[in-house]
Amino acid sequence: MNYTVSTREATVAADELISRYRDVERFKQYCLQCPGYGKSWSCPPFDFDPRTCSDGYKSVRLMGTIIEFDNETRIACKTTEEAISVGRQAMENVWKTLLPQLYEMERNEPGSRCFTFRCVLCPEGCTRPQGKPCRHPEQMRHSLESVGFDIEAMARDLLGITLEWSADGSLAKHITLVTALFSR
Ligand code: SF4
Repeated sequence: MNYTVSTREATVAADELISRYRDVERFKQYCLQCPGYGKSWSCPPFDFDPRTCSDGYKSVRLMGTIIEFDNETRIACKTTEEAISVGRQAMENVWKTLLPQLYEMERNEPGSRCFTFRCVLCPEGCTRPQGKPCRHPEQMRHSLESVGFDIEAMARDLLGITLEWSADGSLAKHITLVTALFSR
């Protein structure tokens, strides 16, 4: 598997991001159709109003981490299962580096909070399906989409990235992880 990783970012006022790109009710409907709905503590439904996640923040550093696969890797994926597996493996590899970087950004800016990706901190799986509490609530972070942000529109308008989805089961040319740091 061969891929390159690049990053684009933009800093925007939190108020602007919220007014233009957050629609909690609309994205709740998409979450309801996801097979992972209610299976991770980082995903809806929440026992709090997701709008409160952005309370008190002034600016947002929005980041798009682009994983771009070479042609050989894409052609080598002969089935949908292989494409899913390669895409997932690449995301996990990149995530291992990206998540510590996001935590580091938080540490460097007291009061800030990062928004990441559906939580995959526990290799043994999330405790939520067993009705047990989160093992690492201090480390768990929410994704932007889980709290109602339109990552497709933000990536397009603010980062110049078109999120790619593979409709025919082949491996997409690129996968983008959209993350953010909210600062006070
Ligand atoms: S830290 Fe573990 S238990 Fe908590 S949300 Fe993440 S996967 Fe689930």
